[in-house]
Amino acid sequence: MSTLAIRDLHVTVETDQGTKEILRGVDLTINTGEIHAIMGPNGSGKSTLAYTISGHPKYTVTQGSITLDGEDVLSMTVDERARAGLFLAMQYPVEIPGVTNTNFLRTAKTAIDGEAPSIRTWTKDVKTAMSNLKMDSSFAARNVNEGFSGGEKKRNEILQLELLKPKFAVLDETDSGLDIDALKIVSEGVNRAHDNTNLGVLLITHYTRILRYIKPQFVHVFVAGRVAEEGGPELAEQLEEEGYVRFVDESESDT
Ligand code: ADP
Ligand code: MG
Ligand code: MG
Repeated sequence: MSTLAIRDLHVTVETDQGTKEILRGVDLTINTGEIHAIMGPNGSGKSTLAYTISGHPKYTVTQGSITLDGEDVLSMTVDERARAGLFLAMQYPVEIPGVTNTNFLRTAKTAIDGEAPSIRTWTKDVKTAMSNLKMDSSFAARNVNEGFSGGEKKRNEILQLELLKPKFAVLDETDSGLDIDALKIVSEGVNRAHDNTNLGVLLITHYTRILRYIKPQFVHVFVAGRVAEEGGPELAEQLEEEGYVRFVDESESDT
């Protein structure tokens, strides 16, 4: 078992108005094989948390730690984090003009494993993963995310997840912009990765919709840059009925 531990994490960004603290003491522990949902209103810092875990240079950690089995993640480069087993599926996946999906996946797989995958098994694995995600085979030869629809980009993120086999995946609003069929397909991909490779999942979402298909054991309500409440699946059901009003009001009254 591996453990990703976030302790008292404080993160700032530089804005036109100066330095702004966005994460204000996040504590979170996730083990491989566990599914955690982070739910919270817009602007609460969910994407900031995802980017900070993956090492985006825009975000400065001013206090606290992120460790993976005791190793300091914050001192690792983005590449080292990927090799250590961290994967981020972004809210807005980037296009990579001039690089085909096939080449990108093979290069990433080689970099992460430290050796090139054998061609025969790799070709088969890519085909199987694409067909599981109901992706047309033409997507293999297309440039990464270039001209993909929102839903196609999200599927492509899960394709990477299934092939790269990380220990932990941070999925940032993987449900947004998906129609119901795509949502099911993407969710099945995440569940496969969880069942087959004991993946630890940090599922960031604004809506409870995706939680009908991916079942978290732990739910964390994220408000104003920190975890405001934690519970089991029942907490998500409560949010579905009540929204975030209660938490937002509380966070305003204590500042
Ligand atoms: P969420 O994903 O929960 O909607 P974000 O992490 O995207 O929230 O943003 C949290 C807050 O931090 C927002 O008020 C957002 O405008 C601000 N923020 C995030 N990144 C930046 C940035 N690079 N520059 C300025 N403000 C930012
Ligand atoms: Mg603190
Ligand atoms: Mg976001």
